[in-house]
Amino acid sequence: MTDQFDPDLRDVVQFHGHLCTGLTLGYRVAKIALKELNAERPHDEELVAVVENDSCAVDAIQFITGATFGKGNLIFRDYGKHVYTFYNRRTGRGVRISENYRGFENDSRFPELRKRQEAGEDVSRELEEFKMEKTAAILRADDKEFLTIEPASLPIPSPARIRASVRCAMCGERFMESRAKVAGGKSVCIPCFEKM
Ligand SMILES: [Zn+2]
Ligand SMILES: [Zn+2]
Repeated sequence: MTDQFDPDLRDVVQFHGHLCTGLTLGYRVAKIALKELNAERPHDEELVAVVENDSCAVDAIQFITGATFGKGNLIFRDYGKHVYTFYNRRTGRGVRISENYRGFENDSRFPELRKRQEAGEDVSRELEEFKMEKTAAILRADDKEFLTIEPASLPIPSPARIRASVRCAMCGERFMESRAKVAGGKSVCIPCFEKM
């Protein structure tokens, strides 16, 4: 199967650590986003990605688009959805891409394998085969066959601001002021607050 990979996907797999369905999905989503937004220079900070899950797919998105947490142009919204919105700050354009894959929807193998696994059977090989089949199908699918691609409906999130930091009254470590908790009239960090 490895032969049909283009070099980018190999690199993504190396970055992520393994090939999986989620990574493949993220890879395809990221490629489409770059094309849709004419952002071929992927490591520009002009690209902003809003991801609605923290699955394997997001690793591919970071690697391909160059949007990362550290740069502040990768924004995580914990909705548990395979929805990805990208913006090009330079052009102001945005695209929302959601996964809509029905290829395996009526496939009874997955629920059956899970049932056997729950009953204590070792189905890891069959499960792996099933996942690889799905991965290959996602790589082959036409864009429109498994994704809904539409203009972004929400405005571009505002750029990361420089925030003040303060020192925790308990552990003495610095933390972002906006994360401060107040305990006994003192300003403390979240881990210290949770230990109280
Ligand atoms: Zn993975
Ligand atoms: Zn602390």
